[in-house]
Amino acid sequence: MEYRHLKEKSHYEDLYDRFTVEEGRRLEKIWNEPEVIGTKKNMYVTCNVDTRHSGLVNFYMYFWKGDRNRNKSKTIEKWMQEDRDLDAHYDRVNIKRRCKNCSKDMKLTDKFLHVTYEKGKRNYVECFFWCKGCDYGMRITEFGDEKVFTPRRCPECSTKVKCTVTENKKNTTYQDSCPKCTWVSSKPLVIKNYRLKEKIDRNFEQDRARFCLNHEEGMEYLASLRRIDELKNVVEGIKSDPKNQEGTPEYIVEHLERPTVAKLQKKLAKALQKVGFTTLKFDDADEIRGDVVVKFRVQDSNESRSASFSKREFKKTVEEALLYTNWRILPTSLSYKMGVLKGKLSGTDSTPELLELVKKRGLENKPVPESLKRPSMVNGRGEKIFF
Ligand SMILES: [Zn+2]
Ligand SMILES: [Zn+2]
Repeated sequence: MEYRHLKEKSHYEDLYDRFTVEEGRRLEKIWNEPEVIGTKKNMYVTCNVDTRHSGLVNFYMYFWKGDRNRNKSKTIEKWMQEDRDLDAHYDRVNIKRRCKNCSKDMKLTDKFLHVTYEKGKRNYVECFFWCKGCDYGMRITEFGDEKVFTPRRCPECSTKVKCTVTENKKNTTYQDSCPKCTWVSSKPLVIKNYRLKEKIDRNFEQDRARFCLNHEEGMEYLASLRRIDELKNVVEGIKSDPKNQEGTPEYIVEHLERPTVAKLQKKLAKALQKVGFTTLKFDDADEIRGDVVVKFRVQDSNESRSASFSKREFKKTVEEALLYTNWRILPTSLSYKMGVLKGKLSGTDSTPELLELVKKRGLENKPVPESLKRPSMVNGRGEKIFF
């Protein structure tokens, strides 16, 4: 009467892999089914997986296989614990009974644990007893449900009947007969023998190798998940940095143009030319408290402009040209004499100063000109990635 649920670990490993193979085959079948992409003259037009999404299938299956493997040992441990619990339940219930007829101790002939997966129902142990003295039988469950079986007697002479059990491939037959007279029961009990036919799965090992990762592959998968996590953190870090959030002063400072003195001169000369200021000249640049300061002079070729109008026009033009740069005109330095304007320009690389500058110029929350935008990352193929 050996009755154990817990089996060798290899049994559960095989079972888990069988489920994996079945599920893998099912998924592959779904992916490989041609997709109806439209109808043409009542005919279905389909396309197959190769042209549709083979890359996506591989991607999906990679994570599916990895996750199946990742959950394997946890699931197996859970299954084994469930079976250990069933065995403990079986061992915990010990029922003894005296015969209802003659009060002698009955012999335990069978003990089962009924396992149910129905919600709200409990597993229970069921025992069968037999009285050697008077042939009475009894069935009892751990909930206390009892049923007594009295010995069957011959309807002709009341002798205790004899039961002969015969078994063939299909059935087991319980035939009652009288050992004393010729009576034989006309209704023998026939029970069909159910034998679970084990299907031979010829492709199992081959598919197991395709769908079930081995230890090394499982470890490699976990390592790749960690790498994905790390990459995610890097991307999150880049995204959450105010430098990368459009509209913040930090973002704008990051995108300001920082021309050299030579480039600055060209840029300003071009802008000033358009509004009648010519021959822009720069002196040698000086460094003052970390900033670069350069003296300039320029002529106003428009003779009709007054000194104050000329100064105002010049200042406006320069400020517009320098709006998205790290340069500014030092306001008190500007002078005008006989059509010649003189002053100083200052450029800085100091982030706090530039943040100040951005705020003063009212550039916060304004979109940066497209020409100044730079990609967050450039990938291995040289493609620009904007977050
Ligand atoms: Zn008895
Ligand atoms: Zn008889």
